[in-house]
Amino acid sequence: MITSIQLKSKRKGSVLRRHPWIFSGAVEQIDGNPFPGDTVEIRASDGTWLARGAYSPESQIVCRILTWNPEELIDREFFRRRLAAAYAYREGLGLSDVTNGYRLVFGESDGLPGLVVDRYGSIAVGQFLTVGMDRWKVVISELLLELPGIDSVYERSDTSARAREGLPEANGLLAGDKIEPMFLLQEYGMKLWVDIAGGQKTGAYLDQRENRRLEGIDVVGKSVLDCFCYGGGFGIRAWMRGAASVTQVDSSEDALDLARRNAQANDLESAQITYEKADVFQFLRSCRDARRTYDIIVLDPPKLAENQGQVEKACRGYKDLNLLALKLLNPGGRLLTFSCSGAVTPELFRKVVGDAARDAGKTPRIAKVLQQAPDHPLSLDIPEADYLTGLDLSL
Ligand code: SAH
Repeated sequence: MITSIQLKSKRKGSVLRRHPWIFSGAVEQIDGNPFPGDTVEIRASDGTWLARGAYSPESQIVCRILTWNPEELIDREFFRRRLAAAYAYREGLGLSDVTNGYRLVFGESDGLPGLVVDRYGSIAVGQFLTVGMDRWKVVISELLLELPGIDSVYERSDTSARAREGLPEANGLLAGDKIEPMFLLQEYGMKLWVDIAGGQKTGAYLDQRENRRLEGIDVVGKSVLDCFCYGGGFGIRAWMRGAASVTQVDSSEDALDLARRNAQANDLESAQITYEKADVFQFLRSCRDARRTYDIIVLDPPKLAENQGQVEKACRGYKDLNLLALKLLNPGGRLLTFSCSGAVTPELFRKVVGDAARDAGKTPRIAKVLQQAPDHPLSLDIPEADYLTGLDLSL
């Protein structure tokens, strides 16, 4: 029985523009009683075939398109081709010279909506975020093991995104050899421990690899404040490059423990780094009240907007953070400020930071516009894939 989703009239535009998400509001009718995760045909209101995708009845996004090619079936070979293409692209980035970990599959940007795979050496760590990808979990795991150098597949689907799909959280070995729980990630000469089973996300924030280099920033003798530090990579890099002092701030004790371990891994005297377990919003206010200032501040908050509906509130948060940070910055200082909310566009983020600067009475220049590392490729068709945006501001 062929199952299909028929769109309302005038709702095929986004499909034709190769945006892979079909929202429930665009659907006229569903034929053939598909099960969650089934492959369905997508048709225009006049019945014309448009695309083929995975059905997610519980989600606002009821279908994620997997192919626009009528000849292309969604089977084992489909996933083998997409994974091989994702792997070939990363190999072509020449990352092996600088790191032993990278994002191997970045969802929609790799034509695999709902699938994220980070590679740590021989371990592939997967997040199966939709019921469509969950359906193919065993096949995908087997195919990952076929890629050169991959010996184990570990699942980190313990994320709240799964609840939107009606899926339980899951964490455990999926295929291959038993893993060592702690992996030592190398990143441009810096070492960072990755807790594969228990760390945040898949264990590391690989998207910040290039920005953590602090390229083009003179840190020698400077005071550095690394806000939302997690494993402390920004601060550790600054210390390795000659900063006079580093303060690492995170609200999670586990994150600060990781940051301490990472300082040791890089032979840094932990006594020279200060660790503050605090809410960054409050911490910045207390610095302001105590008239404490810094030369370099990094603001890398978690996603403040999960979706379009949360954008306004998120922007108030970004403005607050940036206003406070700019006030604490010494003349000649640098602020590296980020948003990883896909729903907040780079233009909007820049506007919010501009508002914050005016309110702070400061006129920083943009030294550099920052974005996610190229193993998290952007898509010309999917603005949401452009989720990490940042500014390197100079006062
Ligand atoms: N800069 C890091 C990644 C940051 S992830 C890196 O380069 O790896 C965001 C971090 O913010 C997480 O570690 C989380 O524990 C922390 N966090 C979330 N909300 C916070 C808050 N209100 N105050 C302080 N830390 C917070």
